[in-house]
Amino acid sequence: MTVLASGSKGNSTVISSSNTRVLVDAGLSCRELIRRMNLAGEDPSALDAIIITHEHQDHVAGLGVLARKLDIPVYFTEPTHRAWVRMLTPRTTMSYAAWLDHVRREKEARANAAASSESTMNQPVPGLCDSMSAAVEASDNTLEDPDESEIATRTKVDPTFLPAVEYFRSGRQFSIGDIEVTPFTIPHDATDPCGFVFSAEGVRMALATDLGYMPPNVKAALRRIDVLLLESNHDLEMLKDGPYPWSVKQRVLSRVGHLSNLATAEFLQNDYDGSASFIVLGHLSESNNAPELARLAAEQALMNHPSLLGNRILLADQAAPLDPICL
Ligand SMILES: [Zn+2]
Ligand SMILES: [Zn+2]
Repeated sequence: MTVLASGSKGNSTVISSSNTRVLVDAGLSCRELIRRMNLAGEDPSALDAIIITHEHQDHVAGLGVLARKLDIPVYFTEPTHRAWVRMLTPRTTMSYAAWLDHVRREKEARANAAASSESTMNQPVPGLCDSMSAAVEASDNTLEDPDESEIATRTKVDPTFLPAVEYFRSGRQFSIGDIEVTPFTIPHDATDPCGFVFSAEGVRMALATDLGYMPPNVKAALRRIDVLLLESNHDLEMLKDGPYPWSVKQRVLSRVGHLSNLATAEFLQNDYDGSASFIVLGHLSESNNAPELARLAAEQALMNHPSLLGNRILLADQAAPLDPICL
């Protein structure tokens, strides 16, 4: 497991077996994700797939561009994929006259395209990376002439285009290469959010961040895990006294918000089976937490179980990748 980034400004983690490499979430720009992979000694071109926990921006910011650049499939649940597409599809309103005009232009463009013998290129080309957004912006310009409109249709890049999409469902195990993936539902204010257990070559790694509380299904999923990336989002006092508006504090604290240091410590003390060699505390809030507080809460929870003192606790970082954790 290589945590590239963790926190409300972006999340992304590489999970690898000897044969397969999967990127969990792509919450930084394409360029930054590639920079961090290189920094951490992970070869971006060796990635086999991207898998998404949920559609919040801090988990998908670089998704489309990275998937097209690397030309790899993206695994979502169907509701999460739809939510992501909706998020990227701008809602436009236009007058009836403008709409009629739009329909006429589309019709003319189609007629022109049909008349042309070389009218096959209406799918975006994978691999354009950063030139993609420029093309999208360029194609937003209003065009007066049907000929120009046709050119725009041909060169317009769809930001929701992905080289391939694979659907999974929470609770149903599936494989990516030789990595077995078990997605589980988490309580969070997204469309169909989930955490994952990855299993390969006798090693089990799990990710559980962005959850308002620890329901029984998550506790059950996090058994017999060798490397556990677990949310420890906020210190309750810092959140209460902190800079967030009241409504945001309520959201974070709610049953579909984020796990506090205390909630994580309670899980470690009461429900955790002690199997992990490494516990990585992640999604730490920059405004409402301090790494020492998160570490202290987790260490105190483990201290009550002498058999768990061998568990190493690491803190995931927002600004830099962690060294790869290899078992
Ligand atoms: Zn998040
Ligand atoms: Zn989220």
